[in-house]
Amino acid sequence: MTIFQKIIDGDIPADKVYEDDEILAFRDIQPQAPVHVLVIPKKPIVSVADASGEDEALLGKILLVAGKIARQEGIADQGYRLVTNIGSYGGQSVDHLHVHVLGGRKMTWPPG
Ligand code: 5GP
Repeated sequence: MTIFQKIIDGDIPADKVYEDDEILAFRDIQPQAPVHVLVIPKKPIVSVADASGEDEALLGKILLVAGKIARQEGIADQGYRLVTNIGSYGGQSVDHLHVHVLGGRKMTWPPG
């Protein structure tokens, strides 16, 4: 079981900023920007690479919720970054699909 599943189940605490029946969003425990929120499906999908056609609407909703959170957090006007890491070379450390919402500072490119 992943740490994110434990957060979904309420077994460990998280600083939640959004929740509905399908999606949960909470602040990253090691923020890499002034605003750093993780948006996750409650359904245990490992990554975007493991999603299937039946998850199409859910994946779209995750992005829309990420945009809503950016507005809620006051970072939308200046711009922000959405990231989803996939697998070892992608830098994924938790095997439960998540989209990082990063903002409040100027981002650099390319990523390291
Ligand atoms: P990844 O490296 O898989 O793309 O991102 C995983 C993220 O989850 C990391 O940014 C890490 O700081 C965050 N994280 C790991 N464990 C916890 C936790 O227990 N609580 C919270 N809020 N974030 C966590």
